[in-house]
Amino acid sequence: MSRRILIAGNWKMNTRAASAAALAKCIVDAVGNSSSVEVALCPPAVYLHVVAEATAGTPVEVGAQNLYPSDDGAFTGELNAAMLTDVGCRFVILGHSERRQLMGETDADVSKKLHAALAGNLVPIVCVGETLDQREANETESVIETQVRGSLEGLDEVRAAGIVIAYEPVWAIGTGKTASKEQAEAVHAFIRELLSQMFSPSVAEQIRIQYGGSVKPNNAEELLAQPNIDGALVGGASLKVEDFAAIIAAG
Ligand code: PGA
Repeated sequence: MSRRILIAGNWKMNTRAASAAALAKCIVDAVGNSSSVEVALCPPAVYLHVVAEATAGTPVEVGAQNLYPSDDGAFTGELNAAMLTDVGCRFVILGHSERRQLMGETDADVSKKLHAALAGNLVPIVCVGETLDQREANETESVIETQVRGSLEGLDEVRAAGIVIAYEPVWAIGTGKTASKEQAEAVHAFIRELLSQMFSPSVAEQIRIQYGGSVKPNNAEELLAQPNIDGALVGGASLKVEDFAAIIAAG
């Protein structure tokens, strides 16, 4: 079973309307008309429209960084899946470690958002990852297992096959410290085995598992060459056209 590599740019809380449009246009040019690699840009929600416009009719897709798991209603400041698809989103990042740390998102929150995303025809990119303390205490696998099981709570086999998981060790995010290809592959293989137990071996084979955490042009190729690494969720380097294009080319 071959899984198509997915390179997603997580722009986090960066850019303005003009720079978002310019960056998206440059990525569109770099990707060209067809790409063996799937590419998605995840700008701040206020610029989804701008990026959707800049990428319309091209293979470059758009993703959001969060959603609120409810139908329309009295939820001041929030955005739901229907709004995100309405402005052209295909993906939504869920449970990023920054949201887990800064906004107190729990696995139970992520699971609610996952179901809302799927019901709204969005492809969820579910982020999991251990902190440095947890890794040093040899808790990586138990932490990842708890996060994967909790975040995917209530998910059935049919829908599971279409989700994306992003393994992002917290200690590697924005720090310039990348997991080695061996460290990353070991956790990816562990996640795939866990998915195989939770769903089935064939479903586990279909689920794409991205690596994230200081992915750069100089480490992308060796990471993406690992058998269980099916793409990258890229933060800092996705804001630089040359770097992001080089990471896409490595896929
Ligand atoms: P980074 O961020 O590439 O800047 O480490 C990755 C992420 O947080 O998704």
